[in-house]
Amino acid sequence: MTIFFEQWQEMECSCGKCSWKGTAGTTTRGRMHRGIYLDLYCPECTEFIDLIIFPAGESCAHRKEGLTEEELQAVQEAEKAEREYAAQCLTSPDQLPELAETDLFLHWDQVQGETQVRSGDTVIWSEPVAYEAFERFERIALILKEKYGAKVKDLAPTDRSLLFLYGDYYPSMFYVPKVRKELFGCPIAA
Ligand SMILES: [Zn+2]
Repeated sequence: MTIFFEQWQEMECSCGKCSWKGTAGTTTRGRMHRGIYLDLYCPECTEFIDLIIFPAGESCAHRKEGLTEEELQAVQEAEKAEREYAAQCLTSPDQLPELAETDLFLHWDQVQGETQVRSGDTVIWSEPVAYEAFERFERIALILKEKYGAKVKDLAPTDRSLLFLYGDYYPSMFYVPKVRKELFGCPIAA
């Protein structure tokens, strides 16, 4: 797991395909995406290893210096939209319902502008959809794990959710199965 890892180069990594082990600093790096995402590959066999997610940008206070009135207003509107979005996102296991089932095969789905987490037909969580939502996928998966523990057997994305889940970032196709395997023991399809 990788989110906001400051000493990321020290992180211990191992390859799921060959026997290579080492620190993240000695992996083969992909190209930084949107200045936030960096994908890492095995130096021996080029298998996908992990994805580092860096904190976005510098503080808001910094960006506001020297802006015109109009630019400042645009920044403030963007911040307001960001806050409104964040307020609708899952942040705690307390926001999730109690579920009686013993084995939970959950689905990650997208219905119009919403991401839904479903157990069968029951929607247990929904929030506004995000583009390149793999980061949200990992966060939500972690919170589901915290709430329901080993009862969760999978969080499987539906076909129609994939466009927004992966976005323009190819390595996310490897990252999402990795999260499913590490958290829920779901085997990675060959
Ligand atoms: Zn390898």
